[in-house]
Amino acid sequence: MTHIAAELDIPLAAMGEMTHRCPLHCPYCSNPVSLAKASDELSTDEWRRVLDELAGLGVLQFHFSGGEPLVRRDIVELVAHATKVGLYTNLITSAVLLDEAKMTALAEAGLNHVQISIQGADAASADRIAGFKGGHDKKLAAAKRVREAGIPLTVNAVMHRQNLDQLSDIVELAVAMDASRLEVAHVQYYGWALKNRAALIPTPDQLDEATHIVDAARVRLKGRPLIDYVIPDYYAETPKTCMGGWARSFLILSPAGKVLPCHAAESLTGLSFDSVRDRSIADIWRDSPALNLYRGTGWMAEPCRSCDFREIDLGGCRCQAFALAGDAAATDPACGRSPLHRELFFLAVTEASEDRRTLVYRKYAGQS
Ligand code: SF4
Ligand code: SF4
Repeated sequence: MTHIAAELDIPLAAMGEMTHRCPLHCPYCSNPVSLAKASDELSTDEWRRVLDELAGLGVLQFHFSGGEPLVRRDIVELVAHATKVGLYTNLITSAVLLDEAKMTALAEAGLNHVQISIQGADAASADRIAGFKGGHDKKLAAAKRVREAGIPLTVNAVMHRQNLDQLSDIVELAVAMDASRLEVAHVQYYGWALKNRAALIPTPDQLDEATHIVDAARVRLKGRPLIDYVIPDYYAETPKTCMGGWARSFLILSPAGKVLPCHAAESLTGLSFDSVRDRSIADIWRDSPALNLYRGTGWMAEPCRSCDFREIDLGGCRCQAFALAGDAAATDPACGRSPLHRELFFLAVTEASEDRRTLVYRKYAGQS
């Protein structure tokens, strides 16, 4: 079957945002500001069909993400179905709902990997950032269950001005949690994070210190855990190859079944993404006008069009260009050649120096 994925250039890994519901309120959440209603979510049967289709196309991995995927009552059933059709399964979770019974059931369903997000190194500060009292301790207990079940663990730590002074302790915590991988990911500023930029953006000194801590930890820990490191765009000189290029390396399904090139793509107003409720995934991947719009390099204007890096970074992030330049086809302002780049850098430095701390928490409709 793998040849079908190769013919259509379908990525070998797909991610399902099973729901936007989540007990936590992270102020940098990568979900869109306008969250999908529970009544719009794909049903159990629809997700089963999606998993069948993906496996049939030769996709190898499926990441169960959200929101919080464990909010869905059918999550164990869906993991079991993914296992049955031959997909490698990863659960991306806040872990506050990962109790003993759920862990046992997921392990029996064949779950292959778990990724747990943490918001800080200690309960008081982590719970303040997540807007959820008692969450940090639940996460530590859940991580223990994951490892006792023999399932490999990744810890995802989202870093910003209000927790960067804890980075050394966060690395130690990931070691204590027996993680095989630690993602040290600085916040990227779109969606909820853009609303909270002034309260979260690090100072340049904090960023330098964090890079130094990660470099030293990589040498000292020798790959246990492996440490991935993502710096904030505002302090970069070249943009990241966002999502490996628009509709190229990632296939993401929204809770309502829309096929997206990245988590934030629905923030591009004016674009309409196709749903698995209406067409097959193969058709959508090949023919969707929204997916084809920014594929490759043909859509680029100057300075990207004649830039030597265009095949490398594929123009950076379309969502960031839309959010900051008001034009999704503009050069990503993270790039030093964007006319907005210097302005953005100074904005970041100024906001960081003002040191505002009040957070706008991510809220699902009906959540207090
Ligand atoms: S970032 Fe926080 S609020 Fe958003 S889905 Fe993850 S745990 Fe929930
Ligand atoms: S000008 Fe465009 S292609 Fe060149 S480095 Fe910047 S974003 Fe990349």
